[in-house]
Amino acid sequence: MLQLDVKTIYFLVGLFATTTGVVLSILTMTGRFDRWLKYWGISNLCTGSGILLLTFRDIVPDFYSIVVANMLAIAGYFLLMATAQRLYYRHMPWRPHLLFLGLMTGLFLLMQDADNYYAERTALSSIACGYYALRVAKITQRIAREEDIVSAYLVSGIFTLAALIFGLRILAGLTHHLGGDSIFSPGGVNMWVILLAAGIGPLWNMSMLLMIMERINRNWIGRALRDPLTAALNREGLRAAVENNTMRRHSDDHPFTALLLVDIDHFKQVNDQLGHAFGDKLLRSFADIVHHQLRSSDLFARHGGDEFVIILPSSGEKEARDVAERLQKAFAQATDKLKHDGLAVTLSIGIAVTVSEQLGSSLYKLMEQADSALYQSKHHGRNRITAAQAA
Ligand code: GH3
Ligand code: MG
Repeated sequence: MLQLDVKTIYFLVGLFATTTGVVLSILTMTGRFDRWLKYWGISNLCTGSGILLLTFRDIVPDFYSIVVANMLAIAGYFLLMATAQRLYYRHMPWRPHLLFLGLMTGLFLLMQDADNYYAERTALSSIACGYYALRVAKITQRIAREEDIVSAYLVSGIFTLAALIFGLRILAGLTHHLGGDSIFSPGGVNMWVILLAAGIGPLWNMSMLLMIMERINRNWIGRALRDPLTAALNREGLRAAVENNTMRRHSDDHPFTALLLVDIDHFKQVNDQLGHAFGDKLLRSFADIVHHQLRSSDLFARHGGDEFVIILPSSGEKEARDVAERLQKAFAQATDKLKHDGLAVTLSIGIAVTVSEQLGSSLYKLMEQADSALYQSKHHGRNRITAAQAA
């Protein structure tokens, strides 16, 4: 049977986390990072020094090796949740958590006798750490889903596993099945837990880092391909999205794809009468309306100024007209108040349709056709929808 010195493993796990914490905290001082790095650094410092302190049992008074050690470890998990919360851009309600930590400290003070309450202390610290691990798993799962970040699923998975291990530890503690009478007992539950921590610890720090890197990458790509005012794709974004879409073709798709070119009527007057900032606001509310009306497979881009492109896969002229009419109606409602200022801001729309398979190769031709149709809409008095004649 493999002989492992449990205390040494505890010591090494503690040392690794403390060193990581020191390095992250020094990096925080450069002022180049957001607050999440500070939380993450202190979290590692707390957990690491807590685990290190545990190994000083019989060298320092029980108060330090039991109460302070356990509370440092729990505070580390709490700060891990604060890190995740910060990365999720959510406000952190500190007060209830500080109260909870205060309550925990009280309970550990009552159970600080090293020779007694071993099982109860194990269960108690597992409840607190397991709860925070579960919260981190939940928050990172939301980040993964909402921002489509694959490595956040990895973080979430690791913390779910950690929460599960804490769950088993709670059970073992409450049923007095820990094996041995101290956390350093060879072959006991806590030996396996610290062995797992030695394996998982570096992985969870690395997965957090991967999640952050993937998110930054996505943000940069997103920014380069989107118009900052309306969050619609820019021309380059549209080109890239069309290329991607034509690669992902479905056999049961409607054979046509429709393109709408939309221009706001008399937009210059809005700028002139109500100011450029109001003009910007109107462009944003137009974009919001479009985002609400479209399906997730549709594409929406700002062609320039007050002119926008919408691409509707699996749609012919009829479907495109329906969408165009819905947009006109929603925009008319949103701009109804402007009538008091003598402004009739309506939408002129041109439609062109192509066989879906040819969208990639005929995008610019399609745009030209839609542009001619849009010109007809303008020419015939604006607030109109015109479809280009099929070529
Ligand atoms: P028409 O009915 O023929 O479309 O005329 P229009 O007044 O809407 O003017 P047009 O489409 O020819 O020009 C669009 C105007 O939009 C010109 C420019 O001053 C303004 N514009 C372009 N980009 C922005 C922007 O980002 N913000 C604001 N507020 N105005 C913009
Ligand atoms: Mg216009």
